[in-house]
Amino acid sequence: MLKKSMKNLPTPHKWLITAVAGFLFVLFLLPSEQASAYKNTSSTLEIGKRYSLDIKTQNIVAEETAEIEEIENRQSFKVKSGDNLAIIFKRAGLSPQETYKVSQAGTEAKKLLKMLPGDSIELDINQDGQLVNLFYSYSATETLAITQNEKSEFVSSIQTKPVDTRVNYAQGSITNSLWNAGRKANLTDNQIMSLAGIFGWDIDFALELREGDSFYVMFEERFIDGEFIGAGDIMAAQFINQGETYTAIRYSDGNFYTPEGRSMRKSFLRAPVNFKYISSNFKPKRFHPVQKRWKAHRGVDYAANRGTPVMAAGDGRVIKSAYDQYNGNHVFIQHGEKYVTKYLHFTNRKVKVGQTVKQGQIIGTVGSTGLASGPHLHYEFLVDGVHRNPRTVSLPKAQPIDKKEQANFALVAEQRLEQLNNSKRIMLAMN
Ligand SMILES: [Zn+2]
Repeated sequence: MLKKSMKNLPTPHKWLITAVAGFLFVLFLLPSEQASAYKNTSSTLEIGKRYSLDIKTQNIVAEETAEIEEIENRQSFKVKSGDNLAIIFKRAGLSPQETYKVSQAGTEAKKLLKMLPGDSIELDINQDGQLVNLFYSYSATETLAITQNEKSEFVSSIQTKPVDTRVNYAQGSITNSLWNAGRKANLTDNQIMSLAGIFGWDIDFALELREGDSFYVMFEERFIDGEFIGAGDIMAAQFINQGETYTAIRYSDGNFYTPEGRSMRKSFLRAPVNFKYISSNFKPKRFHPVQKRWKAHRGVDYAANRGTPVMAAGDGRVIKSAYDQYNGNHVFIQHGEKYVTKYLHFTNRKVKVGQTVKQGQIIGTVGSTGLASGPHLHYEFLVDGVHRNPRTVSLPKAQPIDKKEQANFALVAEQRLEQLNNSKRIMLAMN
């Protein structure tokens, strides 16, 4: 083809083409050292045998490494107590001018003023001892980056790592305490506290827990770059207390509801003392000392260390905060028209008469003032002026979820319950 068409071309063009072709031919031949080595053995190549190729790459690699080293030398500096940016920069051999320039690198740079002992910052310092980049990871997900722009000015930005959320399940059975059962189920202390908080309006974890009570929890776990960074919120949970099943579903408003959409939150907490402070919150099966004692003194006793905080069982107003020789330091709270709660034997009272209190607010601390053999809270619950057992009295019904949210909540609840029940089956099968 080429020869044929060349015949028709004027002579100077022929020369040109010949020259180009020759040049290309030389180009192909030049790097032929390797190629010819290959060619020489090609007739005797065996399958599965390795043949070394003499490729000269060392120079290139060395050059690249040298270039990176010239740009940066990353060093990590731990923030010590009493440190600030200037002190750390001095330790890194950087100048006060660089400290100033970095501190002026935009509003995000102000985060460097809030560095805490134990934090660390990463500094890229070049061979001339000048700062190139600064990185400060102030949380598991966020890093302040101070880098140079094309005008060699320092600019700040926040780099955020995406958090990956996965669902996990746990189940436990009470053998002696909620703490032990929770730990055995690999729940964190926070998760055990959350669990007690979710069901704290229905179950008196201080006194009503029994051997054989059990729980199932569905919760989130957070990961960054595939690395576990911590447990997230409980999404759904079930607690079986003395044969009765309580189920809670977390909704997007952060509150927990029954599967029917009633708030888990109620007018009164079952116990005005956090279970973790109670000296003996576990009672063996078929033993109900509180009920036996109930008739004798019209109240519930929670034995706890002196100084243990006591909470208001519900929103209300303090109608009495006083001392006498029988009740010791005592506080009475009126809740609406119908209900009064009484708390006796405090070491310290934390509220005054006429004061409005919120459910869960600390109103005093456990003590043994008045007629008390040892430090404990004596708690009474009155309905229309009559003493009632706070754990068996029927209480005002909890608020249902907002009407606008009902349909959506029903979907969430159905889905989570199904997940929880599936996991329950799997966990039971594994036991
Ligand atoms: Zn008592």
